[in-house]
Amino acid sequence: MRAFQAVGGGPVYFEHGEGAWVTDVDGNRYVDLVGSWGPMILGHGHSAVREAVTNAVHHSSSFGAPTVAETLLAEEIIRRVPVLERVRFVSSGTEATMTAIRLARAATGRDKIVKFIGCYHGHSDALLVQAGSGVKTLGLPNSPGVTEGAAADTISIPYGDPELIREVFATYPDQIAAVLTEAAPANMGVIPPPEGFNAFLREITTTHGSLFVFDEVMTGFRVGPGGWWTRYEQAPPPDLFAYGKVIGGGYPLAALAGSAEVMDLLAPAGSVYQAGTLSGNPVAAIAGLTTLQNLTADSYARVDATAQRVLALASDALKAAGVAHSAQQAGNLISIFFTEGPVKSMDDASQQDEEAFARFFNGMLNRGVSLPPSAYEAWFVSTAHDEEAVDVIAKAAQEAAGEVT
Ligand SMILES: *Cc1c(COP(=O)(O)O)cnc(C)c1O
Repeated sequence: MRAFQAVGGGPVYFEHGEGAWVTDVDGNRYVDLVGSWGPMILGHGHSAVREAVTNAVHHSSSFGAPTVAETLLAEEIIRRVPVLERVRFVSSGTEATMTAIRLARAATGRDKIVKFIGCYHGHSDALLVQAGSGVKTLGLPNSPGVTEGAAADTISIPYGDPELIREVFATYPDQIAAVLTEAAPANMGVIPPPEGFNAFLREITTTHGSLFVFDEVMTGFRVGPGGWWTRYEQAPPPDLFAYGKVIGGGYPLAALAGSAEVMDLLAPAGSVYQAGTLSGNPVAAIAGLTTLQNLTADSYARVDATAQRVLALASDALKAAGVAHSAQQAGNLISIFFTEGPVKSMDDASQQDEEAFARFFNGMLNRGVSLPPSAYEAWFVSTAHDEEAVDVIAKAAQEAAGEVT
């Protein structure tokens, strides 16, 4: 993505960030709508985060042993998501979901996992899988280097269709260890989960003795104080939650969390292996903790309102220019598909006019707005996006929209 392959030209090299603004190596300023793909919810260079990190670095970069910051961060996460009892820190979302799969397989004694086409859970082999033709064929590797064996236990189906999921469980009775989903898909553009869909997944996995793995790496502590589940769902909680992005406050930190019953299968309490040299790194932990401590109810109201405004103004600009598009949101996650909506699946999303997006992207970049360089990514705002930033986005969108057709 960051190579700019989808939008043409060479990637921009950034060297400084302040609030909603980033500066490239040539001194050009942009309003940032990438936010490091999600973590920078307080904007760049937030003073409290910068101070906490600087202070931590004076003590040491890493001990490879438990620290108080790590424990306080775990407590803050559990305070925000009271259904959680255990938190295990890792360094990336990829590791969190990879460990979730290992844990689910150990807990159930089953091999197969179910994921949705277009949902991204990081780049472990078992999750880099494309669908076979229909539910009955096995998953196929989605990248050179992934073996057929690694892909064969992953069943990859279109998002949002309960019938297909019932069919999968009927086809593989007692073989499915877990169903994984993004809380709200935001890695194929933003797709709000159909009403009741997450609750349905909770229910059917319980019925069949499978684990429900809820990937909140993007939504966690961004769409609300406790993430997606505590804000938007009422059903009994998933078995495992994956977190990342915001909880590291811009540093490499992610987590797997859940009930004691499942999590205690992990070593050292249990026998499922998991480890990491920099897991719970004290600098990352204090950055995450300070970020969460600075995210109040007001912060979320502000991020929600700003996201709403940015989506509306971009959509209005495209509408005025006669550009076919679908402006979509799930909580404060927003994106625009360059096709008639509503977009409900990867199949729909891939109907996009990617060249139209590339023209819009470059039009925005030339006017000082840094959008994610792909038509399949969410746009991220922060608490630091103020009137000035929104005005720059609005003006750029009006002019860039005129260059799309
Ligand atoms: C970013 C992301 C991941 C992967 O996290 P990394 O830290 O990049 O490995 C997993 N799941 C979701 C939903 C994500 O958005």
